[in-house]
Amino acid sequence: MIPFNKPYCSGRELDYIKEVCGSMTMSGNGDFTKRCHAFFEKRYGFRKCLLCTSGTDALEMCAMLCDLQPGDEVIVPSYTFVSSAIAFLREGAKVVFADSGASNPNITVDTIRPLLNERTKVIVVVHYAGVACDMDAIMALAEEHHLLVVEDAAHSIDSFYKGRPLGGIGHLGAFSFHETKNINCGEGGMLVVNDERFVRRSEIIWEKGTNRAEFYRGMVNKYGWCDIGSSFLPSEFNAAFLWAQLEQLDDIQGKRLRIWKIYDSILRGKVEEKSVQLPEIPSYATNNGHMYYLVCPTLEFRTRLMAFLKEHDIQTTFHYLPLHSSAYYKDQFRGEPLVHCDHYGDCLVRLPLYYELSDEDATRVAQLVLEGVNG
Ligand SMILES: *Cc1c(COP(=O)(O)O)cnc(C)c1O
Repeated sequence: MIPFNKPYCSGRELDYIKEVCGSMTMSGNGDFTKRCHAFFEKRYGFRKCLLCTSGTDALEMCAMLCDLQPGDEVIVPSYTFVSSAIAFLREGAKVVFADSGASNPNITVDTIRPLLNERTKVIVVVHYAGVACDMDAIMALAEEHHLLVVEDAAHSIDSFYKGRPLGGIGHLGAFSFHETKNINCGEGGMLVVNDERFVRRSEIIWEKGTNRAEFYRGMVNKYGWCDIGSSFLPSEFNAAFLWAQLEQLDDIQGKRLRIWKIYDSILRGKVEEKSVQLPEIPSYATNNGHMYYLVCPTLEFRTRLMAFLKEHDIQTTFHYLPLHSSAYYKDQFRGEPLVHCDHYGDCLVRLPLYYELSDEDATRVAQLVLEGVNG
């Protein structure tokens, strides 16, 4: 059986967790947390990073920092994970769902623009499969309308747009280190603050509404309650685990890309005549090996292909159920039909992709996909 995903341990996780056991700090914001922050700030030039207990938490912090008022609207793709929307709903905003583009599941200025009005405050972009949205166009649109841009970069570690790291382009960014992502610590995430205006407040919200982080740096001689906040920071155990993964980032990325390329070299040029669409990486974007997917022509086609692969002991999965037609939201949805989003919801299927997948198994999966597509 080839599973869809297998979380990976790089080898040093337990050593670093043991170090935490013998240390004086097991709660958050200790040495391992600082090492992780410094890694991202140095490698990608992010202005400020704060580890969180999940990507969802990082998005909740983004939503709190946007300081939304009742009636404010936030544009969110419908083809995404629930957290991209829930974080903003919890702040009392109205979520307005945008369609994906035709060539990949990302939202585009053309799907965003018709949704703008004087109540719009934030655009949330999701770089699906770690492939960048067209950020120059989206940032220009946001600037024209005085909007904030939040990047849900949950898929996007070590991926770039015109040479700039994803998560570092919008005003705020959120990463996830859930076990299904390229780099994981079980459950984990990270807020990235790119706009100077949010730096101080982000640290206070992170530390339960207190200025404890400033106190630790010796900037104030006592700390107290100064704003709203919550307990978003993970313990040193999570950070120690994450650090072991970050040390192996290049190795992990290399391995995932290698598998991605095996799939692509076997499938590209051989499935399109059956109207199967393969991932498109625009010239402005890089590929971080997060995901390999096919977009089938119909739901029936996808169901048949997935059943065929399952018969051969290969586990594949579809992905997001469009949020605008979810049980929770469908009665509130008032917009135009989101045709591309619905198409990805019905027709997109993801292939196994994880560090320990061998070249032979990846080749076998791709060959069986060919057989299934043509059968
Ligand atoms: C995984 C994911 C999240 C949530 O991250 P968690 O760490 O699981 O909370 C949010 N958005 C997208 C697009 C994701 O894929």
